[in-house]
This record gives sequence, structure tokens and C-alpha cells, in this order.
Amino acid sequence: MENRTNGKCPDWCEKETDHRPGSYIQFHWGRHTVIDPRGVIDPSRIRVDAYMETVNGKDRPPAVSFGAHLPDQENMAFADIPANDARTLASVIELLAGATPEQHAEYVAGIRAAADAIEPEPEAG
Ligand SMILES: [Zn+2]
Repeated sequence: MENRTNGKCPDWCEKETDHRPGSYIQFHWGRHTVIDPRGVIDPSRIRVDAYMETVNGKDRPPAVSFGAHLPDQENMAFADIPANDARTLASVIELLAGATPEQHAEYVAGIRAAADAIEPEPEAG
């Protein structure tokens, strides 16, 4: 795409946004993939794309950005992970398509338990 950040736009960048015009931070976005599994998550919208920030003219490491509107959150929740970790996650998600709802729930509970074992979830509020 047209370069708007001093020659540092990554090849995959399809859209670039400033935090605000003339801001010290720019957001580079790859192609958005959005799915809308109604009935699973409400409001139900899940997206993924390549993502990178340029802060004060310096590029941060690019990542694969996952986002979803979660039932208990008003705004979209994000997680940015390195490309190789994203490939692993894609493989796991692929396998989950063949899981029963009970296996799916068990796996989700396992993820939360592992995360809580490392770092208890902060109190909501
Ligand atoms: Zn860009």
C-alpha cells in the first residue's frame, strides 16, 4: 500500500491508521478475516489479521492479532502473538473443529486453569 510512515510500511500492510492525525503511533493492518458465529458468542464477531505498530518512527515486532467481542466485555478483546505461535494456534483450532462440545469446554477450562496457575485473573471492575 502507499507508504505513510517514513518507508517502514510492511509488505502485508493493507490499511494504516493513526491513533489520531499526526500521532506518534501508527497501526499497520493486514487483511482482516472476520467470522460471525452467532449463537456461540454474543455479540458474535471474531477477527484475525497481521498487525504492527510503529511508535515514534520505530517498528514494533509484527504479530498476528486476534480479536473478539466477548459476552462479558463491551469492547473487543485482543491478543497479539508471534507468527509461529499463531500457526500452532491455527492447528489447535483446526483440531477443535472435530471435538465434541464437552471436549471443547474441557479444553477451554484447561486453558483458563493454566493461565490462572501462572497468574490469577485480575478482579473485574
Ligand atoms: Zn502500513
